Amino acid sequence: MTAWQPRFEARIMRSIGLPLAKLERGEGAWVWDDQGTRYLDFLAGIAVNALGHAHPVFVQAVSEQAAKLAHVSNYFTTEPALELAERIVRLAGAGDEGRAWFGNSGAEANEAAFKLARLNNGGGGRTRVLALVDAFHGRTMGSLALTGKPQMRQAFEPLPGGVEHIPATIEALEAAVDDAVSALILEPIQGEAGVVELPEGYLEAARELTSRHGALLIVDEIQTGAGRTGAWFGFQHAGITPDAITVAKGIGGGFPIGGLVTFGHASELYQKGMHGSTFGGNPLATAVANAVLGEIERAGLVENAARRGIELRERVLALGSPLVSGVRGRGLLVGVGLAEPAAQAVVAEAMREGLIVNAANDHTIRIAPPLTIGDAELDEFEARFGRALAAVAG
Ligand SMILES: *Cc1c(COP(=O)(O)O)cnc(C)c1O
Repeated sequence: MTAWQPRFEARIMRSIGLPLAKLERGEGAWVWDDQGTRYLDFLAGIAVNALGHAHPVFVQAVSEQAAKLAHVSNYFTTEPALELAERIVRLAGAGDEGRAWFGNSGAEANEAAFKLARLNNGGGGRTRVLALVDAFHGRTMGSLALTGKPQMRQAFEPLPGGVEHIPATIEALEAAVDDAVSALILEPIQGEAGVVELPEGYLEAARELTSRHGALLIVDEIQTGAGRTGAWFGFQHAGITPDAITVAKGIGGGFPIGGLVTFGHASELYQKGMHGSTFGGNPLATAVANAVLGEIERAGLVENAARRGIELRERVLALGSPLVSGVRGRGLLVGVGLAEPAAQAVVAEAMREGLIVNAANDHTIRIAPPLTIGDAELDEFEARFGRALAAVAG
C-alpha cells in the first residue's frame, strides 16, 4: 500500500493538518500505529476516550445496541434515550425540573445552548450574549460566534451577532452583566486555551450577577465533564447551580454524542418544534453513553481522576525539568506550562518515545489520559515524558 501521507494530502480537506500517525488499534491507554509501534495515549482523543480504547463495556454496548436498534428519528423514543436523559440530569444535579436534549457533537450542543440564550430574550430586551476571551466552544457558525479566538473566526465573518467576549476577570464581569444580557457562557477550565482555570471565586460571582440580572449561566462542560476534573462536572467544584450545561466528548467514551442539560426555569424555554436533529438522541449513541457513564460510576473513575490527577502533577514536577514552568488544571485535565515556546518539539519527542500528549499552544502541553489509568500507566508516562523533556531541554 502507498504511504498514507500522500493519500491524506491528496484527498482529506486541507482544514486538517498532517496527522502525527496512522493508528490501527487500541487497548486501554495504549494505541498501535500502522508500523506496529505502540504509544501510551495520554490525550485520549482530546479527553474523549474516558474508558480508554476498546473497553469491554464500550464494545459490548456498541455491539448489543447495533444488533437491536441503531436509529429511529425524533418521531420515536427508545429506552436508552430516556435512561440517558434521566441519568445525566441526576449526575448534573439538575433536579426535578432538569431536562436534556441530545445531539451528535460538542458544537451542536453549544448551538442548542446559543438558541436557548436567544429564547431568554426578555420580550426582546435581551440582545447581548457574553463569552470569554480565548474561549473555545466549537467550529460551526453559532459555536464559532461564541468562540473567543480571532484567528479561528476571521475568515468566516459575519458570524451570528450579539456576542461579546470579555476577559475572565470578576471586574470585567461586573462591568458587563446588565439587564440586556441573555446569557453568559463559559468553560470551567479553558481546555483549548491551554488548560486555563478561572480566577478564584469567578463562577460564584458569575452565578450571583447573572441571577440578579435575569441572564442564564451556561457552562460548557464538553471537555471538563464526565468525571474528567475529579467531579462529574467542573462547575460542581464551585458548588453553584448553573441554568444549563453542554456536554459531549467524554460522555460517549468515543462514540459521537453531545447534549444540552437545563436546570430550573431554563427547562421551560424550548417549546415544541423549536429544535431538533435527525441523529440526535439515537438509541445507539445513548446506549453507549449510558454504558460509559455507568462504568465511570461503577468503577469509581471520578475519584480515580481526582487522585491520579494529583499524582500526575506531582510526577511532572518531580522530573525537575528546567523546561517546565508549572502545572495547571484539575483531575485528569492537566496543562504543563513550558518556560519556552517548545510545545511542538516536546510533542514530537514524546511521539518518538511512544507517548501521545498535545500542544494546546506554544507554551502548553495538554495531558488528558483515560480516567482508568493507574500506577503502571503513570510509571510509563513519567519515564517517557521525562526523556522527551530532556531531549528538548538538552
Ligand atoms: C471540543 C470542545 C467543543 C467542540 O466540540 P466538537 O465535538 O468538536 O464540536 C466545544 N467546547 C469545548 C469546551 C470543547 O472542548
